[in-house]
Formats: sequence, C-alpha cells, structure tokens
Amino acid sequence: MIVVVKKGYKKENIQTLLKKIEELGGHPHVVEGKEQLTVSVLGKTEKISLKYFEVFPEIENVMRISKPFKLASKDVIPEGTVIDVKGVHIGQNNFCVMAGPCSVESEDQTLRIARAVKKMGATVIRGGAFKPRSSPYSFQGLGKKGLEILQMASRETGLPIVSEAMDLDGVEMMMDYVDIIQIGARNMQNFALLKELGKIDKPILLKRGMSATVEEWLMSAEYILAGGNHKVILCERGIRTFDTQYSRNTLDLNIVPILKSLTHLPVVVDPSHGTGFRHLVSPMAIAGMAAGADALIIEVHDKPAEALSDGPQALLPSDFEVLMSKLEKVGEAIGKTFQTEISKKGIAS
Ligand code: PEP
Ligand code: MN
Repeated sequence: MIVVVKKGYKKENIQTLLKKIEELGGHPHVVEGKEQLTVSVLGKTEKISLKYFEVFPEIENVMRISKPFKLASKDVIPEGTVIDVKGVHIGQNNFCVMAGPCSVESEDQTLRIARAVKKMGATVIRGGAFKPRSSPYSFQGLGKKGLEILQMASRETGLPIVSEAMDLDGVEMMMDYVDIIQIGARNMQNFALLKELGKIDKPILLKRGMSATVEEWLMSAEYILAGGNHKVILCERGIRTFDTQYSRNTLDLNIVPILKSLTHLPVVVDPSHGTGFRHLVSPMAIAGMAAGADALIIEVHDKPAEALSDGPQALLPSDFEVLMSKLEKVGEAIGKTFQTEISKKGIAS
C-alpha cells in the first residue's frame, strides 16, 4: 500500500500518520520525491482499510500495490528517482557515461585510462579492484591497492568512482574509497549481502543476474530499499545466450522500457559485458541510450591485448571518443541532457 502526501504538508501531521500506520500493523517507509512525499506501507496491509486515511487532509491518494516490489514500484516516485553522485545526476532526463578499464591493473594503467575517458566526456570512472572470475587461476584484482589507485585517479580527474564489491568485507573497505558500489551479476541474489547494503548510505549499482527475470531483479533491489538505502541503480549487462560464438551474452534492451514502466529506479546499460566483443559495443551503446537508459557503463583500455581481464570487449580510447560524439547527437534527438565533465560543471554553477 502506498500513501501519497501533497507537498506543503505539516511535519507533525506526518508523524501522526506514521504512528497511525504502525498502530494498524503496517511498517511505514518514507520516500521524499520532488513532487510528493510517499509513504510505502509494508507488512500485512490487507486488513488496513483505506477509510482510516480519510481524516488526513494532506493525503492525495492511497493505493494498494499488487506487485511484490513495493518500494521499487514506479507508483512511489512517478517522475523517477535522480541519484546525485558528486554532482553527476543519474536518472530522469539526465544521461551520463561511466567508463574505464575492467580491472585496475596498475597505477599507470588506471591513471592513463582515467585521464583519457575524462577528456572524452565520461563523468564516472569504472574499474574493478575485486574481480569475480570464473577461474580461481585468473587475475583476481589488486584488492585494497586497487582502491587506492582508483582514489588517486578520482583525485586527479575529479570524477567519482564505481567499483565492485563481492562481499561484506569489500563493502566496508570501499566505504572510504568509492562513490558507487557495484554488485555484480553473480551476487544479484546474495540476499545476505543485499540486506547489509540496505544499511549503508552509498549508491548501489545492482547488475542483473545472468538469467534473472525482471521480477527477481526488482525484488533484489527491494531488499536494499527495504533496508533503508534508497539509492539503487539497476544495470542491464546481458543475459545468458545460446550462441556464444558471436556474442558473450545477449544484451536485453527490451528490459529498459519494461523497467521504465515498472520502477522509478535509474537504469544503466552495460554494452561491454552485454556483448563481449569490441565491434558490438558502440552500436549497442547507442541502442541502449535510444531505448531510454539513464547511463552507460563502458570498458575502455588503451592496450586491450595486454589487459588482465575482458580485453576483447574493451573499446580503445579513440573508439570511445567517436562513440561519445554519436551519443551526444542521440541525446539531442531523444531529449536527454548529456552530461559531460564540461556540462556537469555548467549544471552545478
Ligand atoms: C564487471 O563489471 O567487470 C563485471 C564483472 O560485471 P558483471 O557482474 O556484469 O559480469
Ligand atoms: Mn569486465
């Protein structure tokens, strides 16, 4: 059940409303949108009559939500959530590109690539310090050292960082280093981890599991939201494909408009893991933006043949530059504000 309250409400009336909901056996969750304040009522709400709310003049609407994802539902914030990451806006009409190497390999490699992608308009740096690899013999990431390198890159470029945590220790370590914590496809249903993420104040980039349905994915987001962390960003990164000869995964772009109709959470498309091959990345990045994504996350490497992970899908900086100029034009065509480092400064000042 959700209760929509008009802007300009009296704070004490909201307190009375929350108390009333608790008395009736519901668990209220307050979400503040730009246009409205929404109270999502969880728990056994079937027994709560809509009549109870008639005495509150500030209430605009009371609805029962039949979907299992109550807090992720679009009804909670119909205009869509915007997540502000150090001045980079993710959601609504904003668009941005997160870019960088798959893995942080060395200080020199990360700084080189971070400088390049910033110059070309990326507003968030990506890079893995903890790598979920299919083989225990593959490069596992530099760990804390990798986070320190990312921090150096962020200090130099001024760009915020997104990086993957694989467990709770990683999350704790990352709190001081990264701006967005990525939860990878393999951990999308690690419910114990999701519960912990609900307790922290940090945006979470929740990637879709390799064969997760829309509802399974949104319920994973719901775990984080239900814990009290409302900064969840969804990331489509391709689902398992039967034809691995020509693509690593199938980038499911259907899901972008599907999610836009179901949830207020921002949606990011990852055409790098979604395709697995460099020549497919730019066309699918453009398609992702055109489908309505709020951001893209793209792997870039200046020496892909030497990359310690995902070299075949890394764009060269020169390819990335061409892609960025095409995306800018798509943004104009579809009415998205394309944030580059320059336009971001414009917005902030
Ligand atoms: C990554 O972003 O490098 C990564 C491992 O992502 P995913 O969880 O989508 O495979
Ligand atoms: Mn990768």
